[in-house]
Amino acid sequence: MKIINPSNGKMIDEINDDTVPLVQEKYQRARRGTSEWKGVPLKERLVILKKFHQALEDHRDELAATLTSEVGKPLQESINEINGARARLQYFLDHSETWLGENKVRTDGNTQESLCFDPLGVVCNISAWNYPLLVGINVYVPALLGGNTVLYKPSEYATLTGLMVERLLHTCGVPQDAFIAVVGAAAVGEALLDLPCDGYFFTGSFKTGQYIAKRVADKLVPVGLELGGKDPLYVTDEVEDISLVAAAVAEGCFYNNGQSCCAVERVYVHEKVYQHFIDAFVSEVKGLTEQGAITRSVHVNFLQEQVDDAIAKGAKLLCGGKVSDKPGFHYPATVLTHVDHSMRVMSEETFGPVIGVMKVKSDEEAIKLMNDTEYGLTAAVYSSDRARARAILELVNSGTSYINCCDRVSPYLPWSGRGHSGLGSTLSYLGILAFVRPRGIHLR
Ligand code: NAD
Repeated sequence: MKIINPSNGKMIDEINDDTVPLVQEKYQRARRGTSEWKGVPLKERLVILKKFHQALEDHRDELAATLTSEVGKPLQESINEINGARARLQYFLDHSETWLGENKVRTDGNTQESLCFDPLGVVCNISAWNYPLLVGINVYVPALLGGNTVLYKPSEYATLTGLMVERLLHTCGVPQDAFIAVVGAAAVGEALLDLPCDGYFFTGSFKTGQYIAKRVADKLVPVGLELGGKDPLYVTDEVEDISLVAAAVAEGCFYNNGQSCCAVERVYVHEKVYQHFIDAFVSEVKGLTEQGAITRSVHVNFLQEQVDDAIAKGAKLLCGGKVSDKPGFHYPATVLTHVDHSMRVMSEETFGPVIGVMKVKSDEEAIKLMNDTEYGLTAAVYSSDRARARAILELVNSGTSYINCCDRVSPYLPWSGRGHSGLGSTLSYLGILAFVRPRGIHLR
């Protein structure tokens, strides 16, 4: 496997994919590892993961440089990702004992009824590249704290970061057989699906997620899917400072070059503030400085196709719109207006720095358009009337509602997609309980 730096297109490393027999051997090790790791008391697992929290800080520069070199995001954004990952990890360190400990729920006559949780066993985590540390930690940290062993396949676009995580976890005291990285692309992922793992937790596209859910269905084990989005944002006619809103929306659309599952992918603006918003928004977007690269080379053409399709159907290009001729894989921040839902840019996930903005006449029209998607990850409304924003969002089908904010994730809240955006939840106490099975105990 060639590891390419998307910023300049140059090869930075070449490593071997795992062969199918090697993946099977890794599975056998993870299976054998379950009895040792689940025997380690939760308090000790927490001590080990706390060391990992420190290690992420101690190795921040090296880790950020590795991440930037293989996914192409600006160094500061890699550092932000590491800081965010540590905050998530801290949430799990602070709250796992509360949720995983034995809970004496009732005494019935002389019978004590208790609820406790067992690990699933060997958890398979097939992961994405856009925020490899954040989306990985959502799964392998609570899985390890819950007493599972983990087979972790980082995306083929974030392999070096994945291997570094493996080294750090082992150095901090996670046994060699409790966390094992599996290296490779789709074919190696397929080998994982053939194994009798006790849970499959996937982050990636709808297409692959749906395929994986079908492929493992017969095993009747838990499946968690964190998939894509086409997240809408609506600016009502009641906003105090349209320039501030425009700046926040630009950040929501273009942070990480739009390569975020919860990036703003469609903008609807009330006609009363539309022109004012567009002027402020385009000026913000033109002022964006360090944008980073597009991680996957093939995606540059995909973005151009979405833009060309929109223009051919009548959209107006306000900035960007042409592949950059810099070395490496780049696409400029692009704003399209006069768009509608017949255009690919308003209906299929873009996952890049291209945004369509559409004028609407009323909240009802905005709600209808926001719901016109198979996805349901997040939705945002900007309004100085919070009750109005909340009432609008209650009619929009999404796992997360943002009122006067967007593109943010909190470890205290469940991260959960609806429809084509996924199944199950990570983060919050639901994301701690996702990796264990309940056991009811009747003690007389
Ligand atoms: P992808 O579906 O192409 O790949 C994801 C992972 O699946 C990779 O590790 C890949 O090697 C593996 N894979 C591919 N084919 C496979 C197969 N046949 N069998 C087993 N494994 C296989 O997605 P991607 O390009 O890595 O990630 C981008 C997508 O992820 C976007 O749609 C984005 O919205 C989504 N995403 C969602 C969240 C979320 O929290 N909801 C977070 C990050 C990314």
